[in-house]
Amino acid sequence: MSTNRTFTMIKPDAVKNGHIGAILEKITAAGFKIVAMKYTQLSLRDAQEFYGVHRERPFFGELVEFMTSGTIVAAILEKENAVEDFRALIGATNPADAAEGTIRKMFANSIGENAVHGSDSDENAAIEGSFHFSGREIY
Ligand code: GDP
Repeated sequence: MSTNRTFTMIKPDAVKNGHIGAILEKITAAGFKIVAMKYTQLSLRDAQEFYGVHRERPFFGELVEFMTSGTIVAAILEKENAVEDFRALIGATNPADAAEGTIRKMFANSIGENAVHGSDSDENAAIEGSFHFSGREIY
């Protein structure tokens, strides 16, 4: 069953480049309601656990290093068909392949440092949301 919720992070590259406000504007303009949000930084252990499914991938070390390199904004977003619609809004993993007007096309520079995360399923949205937020932090 669809939960109408997805989980996102504004990644360290986009935070460092000053894009938090512009990205949140794109997200809310697209009809997503922010039901939880925090400014935080992943520890090594956090990043290794969060990206555990990619442990065997050749880029895992780079990914963990990047995701712990600075602060992030984590948020839970609500909208009908949230997971799919948010993936469309952020665009392809590699910004070079992302459609015009998508967040990654506008704000990302490489496949690794690609500005935002978006959950790929309702199940992962729930797991990732509860990784970052307790029930009393979700409104
Ligand atoms: P996503 O669902 O579009 O975020 O893509 P994936 O689940 O395939 O990968 C997770 C994250 O790993 C991506 O968002 C990138 O930050 C990173 N990543 C994926 N492929 C590569 C790669 O080839 N090199 C590097 N350095 N990072 C990658």
